[in-house]
Amino acid sequence: MEVLTSINPANGQALGQVPVTPVAQIAPMVAQAQQAQKAWGRLSFDERIAFIEGAAQEVQGQIEELAVLLSKEMGKDIRRSGGEVSGVAYGAAHMAQEVKQALQPENQTGGQMVYAPLGVVAVISPWNYPLAMANNLMIPALVAGNTVVFKPSEETPLIAQAYVNVLQKHLPKNVLQIVHGAAPQGIALVEANVNMIAFTGSQRTGKDIMRRAANGVKRLVMELGGNDPMIVLPDADIKAAARFAVASSFENAGQMCTSTERIYVHNSVAQAFEQAVVAVAQQYKVGPWNMENVNIGPIVNLQQRQKIIDHINDAKAKGARVLLGGQNHPEHYVTPTVLADVTEHMLMEQEETFGPVVSMQTYSQVPDAVSKANHSPYGLGAVVFGHEQAQEVAGQLEAGMVGINTSVGAGGAPWVGAKQSGFGFHGGAQGHRQFAQVKVISTR
Ligand code: NAD
Repeated sequence: MEVLTSINPANGQALGQVPVTPVAQIAPMVAQAQQAQKAWGRLSFDERIAFIEGAAQEVQGQIEELAVLLSKEMGKDIRRSGGEVSGVAYGAAHMAQEVKQALQPENQTGGQMVYAPLGVVAVISPWNYPLAMANNLMIPALVAGNTVVFKPSEETPLIAQAYVNVLQKHLPKNVLQIVHGAAPQGIALVEANVNMIAFTGSQRTGKDIMRRAANGVKRLVMELGGNDPMIVLPDADIKAAARFAVASSFENAGQMCTSTERIYVHNSVAQAFEQAVVAVAQQYKVGPWNMENVNIGPIVNLQQRQKIIDHINDAKAKGARVLLGGQNHPEHYVTPTVLADVTEHMLMEQEETFGPVVSMQTYSQVPDAVSKANHSPYGLGAVVFGHEQAQEVAGQLEAGMVGINTSVGAGGAPWVGAKQSGFGFHGGAQGHRQFAQVKVISTR
């Protein structure tokens, strides 16, 4: 039996193992999910929600234990893991009710529009928020009356399995199944007889899934990567902008899809902004999940750590000014780094770095800053700090979510990307409806 060994990113040691799902087993699992969907899809919303609520209550009793496992496996500090597990435990039932509301039949002239289940949904998720990202796709899929075959990231199989164990205890057989493995298992799941693929992960994988899904014209939710810009206007509150810039660049060790990756600051305030950023960034502490006051954990694996260091070194070699860090990275970690004078020729600017780096450059004309911010195939989030021109600039930014003097995303609204950051999204009534088949029933 082939096994997948989960590694603690803080020390490189093995944490535990799960059996890899043989590729040949995946199509039969999907067939079982198709079978189970028939009865599951016939239940009322309230009946399905009752199963979810039972599981959520049990998770509420295990928050601490699950948070420790999440921290050990993914690396984030215990405060952040606790927040993620609590969000899932207390948010699942609320989300389930939202889904029910969003999928109520709508009367039309001469008929009705109903939101029917699609069938089997493949949920494929990343490692950076291993519970939250999976839950955001699984709960709407299940409440809408679909069965789910879930493939978590190969970096975080243990926390995924622990959560699925609780859900499976409460759900009828084969309503939720789990597949462990990496790309081969993901590919087999996409190519099996699933009706929808709800995916959160990188742009590269998303494109591969789209190609393979085309054969069956399978429904898609594609929540892909970002390379989020931030524009600091001349009349911005510099201290607030600096606090945001650092917090957003360093959150989850920079491993967040809407991390600020590129900052454009007006040259009239650049010096003050740089000083304020360094003052805030110096306060961040790197270390393992259980060390006191740690807010930057290890990087998920050595390959990803090397990519971040390569981006920093490339920027340095091409003339970026290092204001903080940039070298002496402890094993398994990247030193919090602040870079100025970044240009479009640097990898830091072109690609999603996904590390604890504040990367900035100056501009003199606002339209140039907007044009640089938009010069990217990505379009997940974007942020503008300032006042007089902030609304106008926000309107010009090519992103699914724009924050003005704050982070992106709004309660009750979907989490949504533009351009190559994806299409098909989750959250909010419009997001929940992605997990259902619109069916128009006319009567006379
Ligand atoms: P990834 O694309 O490498 O992997 C994601 C999942 O896809 C994993 O479960 C992986 O095993 C699976 N997979 C890999 N190849 C596959 C294939 N060919 N077919 C099917 N499945 C396959 O992404 P990652 O490194 O786990 O996650 C980081 C990325 O996720 C970043 O780009 C980040 O921005 C993005 N992300 C986006 C959002 C969002 O809401 N837009 C949220 C979180 C993370």
